Amino acid sequence: MFLRELRDGVSTLRGIGKTTQGTLESAGIFTVADLLLHFPRGYEDRKTSIPFAQIGDSGVANTVIRVVEHEFFGFGAKRTLKIRVKDDTSDAALVCFGRSFLSRALVPGRLFFLYGQFSRRYGELQSSSFETEPFSESPSQFNGVIPIYQLTGRLTQNFFRKFVTRVLEQYGQELEDELPEYVVQKHGLLDKRTAVREIHFPLKMETAGHARRALAFEELYHLQLAIKRKAVKAQTVTREKRNLAGDSAKLLIKRLSFSLTADQERVVEEIKTDLEKNTPMTRLLQGDVGCGKTLVALLSAAMMIDAGYQVALMAPTELLGRQHAESAAQLLEPAGMSVALLSGGVGSESRRHLLTAMSLGKVDLIVGTHSLFSADICYMNLGMVIVDEQHRFGVLQRIALVQKGNRNGVDATVSTNPDLLLMTATPIPRSLALTIFGDLDISTIRTMPPGRKPITTHLAKIGNEAKVYEWVRREVGNGHQAYFVYPLIEQSDKLDLKSAKSMESYLRSEIFAEFTLALIHSRLPEEEKRETMRGFQNGSIQILIATSVVEVGVNVPNATCMVIEHAERFGLSSLHQMRGRVGRAEYPSYAFLVFSEDLGEDARNRLVAMKDTTDGFVIAEKDLSIRGPGELTGLQQSGKFKLNIADILSDTDLLFAARKEVIHLLGQDPGLLSPAHSQVRKVLQRAPPFADDFVEGG
Ligand code: ADP
Ligand code: MG
Repeated sequence: MFLRELRDGVSTLRGIGKTTQGTLESAGIFTVADLLLHFPRGYEDRKTSIPFAQIGDSGVANTVIRVVEHEFFGFGAKRTLKIRVKDDTSDAALVCFGRSFLSRALVPGRLFFLYGQFSRRYGELQSSSFETEPFSESPSQFNGVIPIYQLTGRLTQNFFRKFVTRVLEQYGQELEDELPEYVVQKHGLLDKRTAVREIHFPLKMETAGHARRALAFEELYHLQLAIKRKAVKAQTVTREKRNLAGDSAKLLIKRLSFSLTADQERVVEEIKTDLEKNTPMTRLLQGDVGCGKTLVALLSAAMMIDAGYQVALMAPTELLGRQHAESAAQLLEPAGMSVALLSGGVGSESRRHLLTAMSLGKVDLIVGTHSLFSADICYMNLGMVIVDEQHRFGVLQRIALVQKGNRNGVDATVSTNPDLLLMTATPIPRSLALTIFGDLDISTIRTMPPGRKPITTHLAKIGNEAKVYEWVRREVGNGHQAYFVYPLIEQSDKLDLKSAKSMESYLRSEIFAEFTLALIHSRLPEEEKRETMRGFQNGSIQILIATSVVEVGVNVPNATCMVIEHAERFGLSSLHQMRGRVGRAEYPSYAFLVFSEDLGEDARNRLVAMKDTTDGFVIAEKDLSIRGPGELTGLQQSGKFKLNIADILSDTDLLFAARKEVIHLLGQDPGLLSPAHSQVRKVLQRAPPFADDFVEGG
C-alpha cells in the first residue's frame, strides 16, 4: 500500500470514540493515513542525560531521580504539593500545582525517569512542568527521542504518541515505497516504511533528519512529476515554427535616442528564440525597477505584430496601463502598428467600437488591466500576452487568460496557446517560480541603463519633516519634481495617520505655496487622474501628492524626490517600487522614509533594508524572509500552497535533485518504462494527484 491509500477511518482504531473522532476530523485527520501524515513539529531528545548539576539558572533536566519526601505549602484550595527529589548530582524540587494526585505515584524512595524544565528559585532548582515514568530497563517515553505534535482541541501529546504507535503497529509493515527503487538508492534515502516510523519515533535525533529528507524528497518528486507531466502536455500543443524577421524591431531600436544595454539585447534574443519555437513560451522577465523591461516587452511585441499577430499587454492598474499605452504608441505607431487602450473609463459606445476593431484584428497591441480578458472580448489572432508586475495578479486570472487565447482565433491552428511573458521587479527564487508556475524560463536584466545615479535613502523620525520639506524645496526650486505618498486617501477616525487629501491642502498652503501641487488617488474620476498625470509628466505640476497608486511603473524621469510618510505602513516591495519612481534619469535622487515612533520589529527591518540597499534582488530576498513565500505570492490564502513536509525555500537542493530525476524519467529512457520495470510504472500510475490548480502553467 501507498501511505495515502490507507483509508480506514480513525474510528476503526481501538480507543477512539465519537468525541475524539470529531476532534481529529476538525483538525483534518479522517483516516489512519492522515494520522501518520500528522508529522511531529519537533522532538525532545530524552536520550542524552542532563543531570541537575548541569543546569545553571534554568534549563532542561533529563535524569533518573529518587523521591526523597513530600511537603505541602499554602493553605486551603491553594495547598500545593512539593516533592523533594535527588539525582546522582544534586537536589531539586517538583512543584505540583493542581496535581496533588502525584503524591500517590511518586512514592518516596522509588526511582523515576524525569524530564522537565527547571529554574533556580530561592536557591533551589524547581520545576512545575515535568514528566515522569517509573524507572525500568525498557522505558516507553524515556531514553529515546520523543515526538512533539501540533495539538488540537483536548488531544494531548500522549494521545498522538499512543495512536500513531498503534497505527504503525497495525499498518506499518504494509507501507510501500512511492519512489522508484533506483531513485531511493541513488540518493541514499530511507525506505518509506523506515522513514515513516523514524519521522515519528526516531532512534536518534539524526535519524529524524534522515526521515525528513526522504519524505521531503518524495513529496517534491511527486510535485515535480505532476508539474512536468502537465508541462509535457502543454509542450504537445504545437504550432508551426515561426520565423520572426524582427525587421521592425531593429528599426525601432535604431530610432531610439539611446542604445539597448547588453542585458536588454540578450533578453530580446532569448524571447525571440522562444517565440520562434513550435511550443508556447512561458517566460518570466525579471529586473529591477527602471531597468527597462517595458522596452524589451514592446520590442518583442513588435516582432509578433510584424508576423501578423495581436499582442495584449496587461498592467496592474489603469494608471500604468495608460502610461504603457502612451509609450507603446510613441514607439510603435510611427512603424505603422496600431495601439489601443481598453480603459474602464470609456463609454459603452466607444468600448463596443474598440471591441469590434480588436475582433477584426485592426488593433495590433491592446493595453489594459485584467479586464482585457473579460468574457465579452474577442481577439482575432492573439499571439502573445505580456503581463506587467505579475505578482499582483491572481493565479486564476493568469490561467483564464491563457485559456482565452485557446478559445479565440479565427484560425485555431495559428493561434492556440498565446506566448506568455511575465514581467516583475520583485524577483522570486527559481525554486519558488518553478513550483508556482510549473515550467518557467527566466530572463534577468541585471544592469541599469548607463548614467543612472544611485538613489540616496534617508530615514526620518516623525517630527523631523521640516528638514525633508526643505530638501524637497531645494530640488523642486532647481527644476525637478517630487512625490509625496501617504497610506490613506482621507483622514480616518480610527487611524491617527496623515492622509493624502489633508496633506495636500496643508503642503499647498503652509509649505510649498510657491509651487504647483496636485492630488492623485484611486477614487478620483479617470478623467481627472489622466489630466493630473499628464500635468506631472509635462512638468506643469511640480509636486504630486499621492497614495500608493504611484507604486508601480509610473515613469517621470525628472522627478528626484520621493517622500513616503508613515513608511512603516507599507510592505518592502511597495517601498522599493515607490522609491523606483525616482532615479530614473541622470540626476541624483532621494527617497525620504518618514516613520512613526512605535515601530514593530518587521517594520524596523523593512526600513533598515531600504536604507541599506537599492538592489531589488536583495530586497526581494529580505521580503521573502520577513513575509514568507505564501504571503508574497498570495497563494497562502487560497490554501493551495501547502506541502506537508517539504519547504520550497529551504529544501531547494532536494527540489532540484527531485526535478532532475523526474526530467530524466519522463524525458526518455523507454527502458525504465518498460514492463520489466513494473515498480517504476506503479509509482507513475499511482502518483498522488497534486491539485490541478496547485500545478499551474506548463
Ligand atoms: P521597468 O519597466 O523595467 O521598471 P522601464 O521600462 O519603465 O523600466 O524603463 C525606465 C526608463 O528607462 C524609461 O524611461 C525607458 O525609456 C528608459 N530606458 C530603457 N532602456 C534604456 C536604455 N537602454 N538606455 C537608456 N534608457 C533606457
Ligand atoms: Mg515597469
